[in-house]
Amino acid sequence: METTQQKFITLHDKQFSIFIEEKRILSAIETIAKKINDSYKDKNPLLIPVLNGAFMFAADLAKFLTINCEFSFIKASSYSGTSSNGTLQEKIGLSENINGRHVIIIEDIIDTGNTLARLVPELELQLPASLKLCALLHKPEAMKADLKVDYIGIEIPNDFIVGYGLDYDGLGRNLRDIYKIV
Ligand code: 5GP
Ligand code: MG
Repeated sequence: METTQQKFITLHDKQFSIFIEEKRILSAIETIAKKINDSYKDKNPLLIPVLNGAFMFAADLAKFLTINCEFSFIKASSYSGTSSNGTLQEKIGLSENINGRHVIIIEDIIDTGNTLARLVPELELQLPASLKLCALLHKPEAMKADLKVDYIGIEIPNDFIVGYGLDYDGLGRNLRDIYKIV
């Protein structure tokens, strides 16, 4: 299936230009999946994608995983407009008991790290066997929290991006490629 890719797009009042193409995104995801396949064989890890942004990454990552694994989604949000406001706004909790499980949190992007810095201690209370962090994208310059990200797809500069699950006030999540604000 061919899809035509646009160099520039407009969402609400802002213009965005093409930044990371689908092909490069998928190759970064395949690299992460290989590492997880190697490290978690016979461990039946529980992958916990953080909604909304991580839905597309989680789906493509799942397709590259060849080991037995389980998925359970949670919801957290600390973004409004184009910047993180540092407070966790909404949350749909975890239905699974993660005690003794090998857990991997799946994020679309780690920006300030505040969202995960709040989530990780909560999950650790349940005493998982291990807890690792996996993000498709990471903005090292924006990082404020003291977090170790175990699996990173692509490091990017501190610019606002959309596409591949990431939105600007609701729009842009359906784009196959990632776009950067102009
Ligand atoms: P953090 O708590 O690390 O600052 O931000 C985490 C969440 O903010 C990410 O999971 C993502 O949903 C959102 N976010 C961070 N940077 C961007 C960005 O450049 N674009 C969009 N659309 N969302 C972002
Ligand atoms: Mg997110």
